[in-house]
Amino acid sequence: MTERWTPASWRKMPIQQVPVYPDADALAGVEQQLAGFPPLVFAGEARRLKRDLAKVAAGEAFLLQGGDCAESFAEHSADNIRDFFRLFLQMAVVLTFAGASPVVKVGRVAGQFAKPRSAPTEKVGDTELPSYRGDIINGIEFTEESRTPDARRQLMVYRQSAATLNLLRAFAGGGYANLQNAHRWMLGFVKDSPSSGRYQELAGRITEALDFMRACGIDPESHPEMRSTDFYTSHEALLLGYEEALTRVDSTSGDWYATSGHMVWIGDRTRQPDHAHVEYCRGIKNPIGLKCGPSLKADELLRLIDTLNPDNEAGRLTLICRFGADKVLEHLPALVRAVKESGRSVVWSCDPMHGNTVKAGNGYKTRPFDLIMREIKGFFDVHQAEGTHAGGIHLEMTGKNVTECTGGARALTDEDLHDRYHTHCDPRLNAEQALEVAFLVAERLKR
Ligand code: PEP
Ligand code: MN
Repeated sequence: MTERWTPASWRKMPIQQVPVYPDADALAGVEQQLAGFPPLVFAGEARRLKRDLAKVAAGEAFLLQGGDCAESFAEHSADNIRDFFRLFLQMAVVLTFAGASPVVKVGRVAGQFAKPRSAPTEKVGDTELPSYRGDIINGIEFTEESRTPDARRQLMVYRQSAATLNLLRAFAGGGYANLQNAHRWMLGFVKDSPSSGRYQELAGRITEALDFMRACGIDPESHPEMRSTDFYTSHEALLLGYEEALTRVDSTSGDWYATSGHMVWIGDRTRQPDHAHVEYCRGIKNPIGLKCGPSLKADELLRLIDTLNPDNEAGRLTLICRFGADKVLEHLPALVRAVKESGRSVVWSCDPMHGNTVKAGNGYKTRPFDLIMREIKGFFDVHQAEGTHAGGIHLEMTGKNVTECTGGARALTDEDLHDRYHTHCDPRLNAEQALEVAFLVAERLKR
């Protein structure tokens, strides 16, 4: 790890979760093409996110990160992006207003296409095929052709990410995110839901506050914070050939940045300190996330922090904890204490999804809403006890009315799962459930 870093130095390291491409020349050709394409995001934006995250690390703001487990080609539409962004704004407004905290908004979007898998192959009956690894690598359909990795998919991901980002930038800056619209962000299906009354009431209070400002002679419209919002993108930096091709030198600082998204994270399965994914991430200057699961010991975490953030730069590193509702109280305190004692600045974030995945009786992979809430509560309790800042949440969610996680105010059951189970990978909170989470977190933030 002490060797000189380059965007390609990860290639000399051991690596987990690599797809086997049938045609190495085609792969190299695609990577070369990507290397010539324009960056999707800019270094200055990544620096701005790092500055915002530094405020979270200092306990002065809260990080909301969320989106699909895996984006897909099939679900790429303006409606999906709008519904997702609208839900995100609703959650952020709940956290900002009810939780009285500035919110840093980071989508799992516009690049979240590569998935780590627990097994390299999948067997159905007598047929064994490579596992689905996300639309950037292969197709979800269970056929030999679809499951064979195809490098050209990376070009489609680049284009889809560019189009998604383009719409998100327009929404964030073009008036849609104007706080005056808080009432209108109400989604159709959420309207008659239990959270909707609470949300409408809150939106009403915002309108009153804006009216009050106007009556005092302050025009809310003259403040850009009221008219627009900063919205950032993130994804797991798993497919390193794609990431390398989009890694560019920033002309103003001379530093290297991943330009595939503002923030990238290292997954729980690929965080070995001397392996390729850590090597790649240590050299880019973007804000980085690190997934922390039950197998991560405090000494290994400190070693990873040394490698990923040697200068102890605030906002550089977000620790995304995903232990499971039953394990968070057992595992988190030791990590929090070790980091605190070492004097390291980090953002502590809670992913209450990945440690709480269960198989329903009818075979669907699901996540009970109660367990998700219980892990979030545990996360806040630990930070309260340790005197540290519970800095953020990391969710898998969609603006659509899917039935993938059980429970919530509508008490979805195992039997409901088949109604609208659309995810390409892990089960997501639907808009109503996600809003419920936001209200719970807002209550904890106020304390
Ligand atoms: C994910 O975020 O979709 C994921 C695979 O998470 P983890 O690395 O924490 O298992
Ligand atoms: Mn997932």
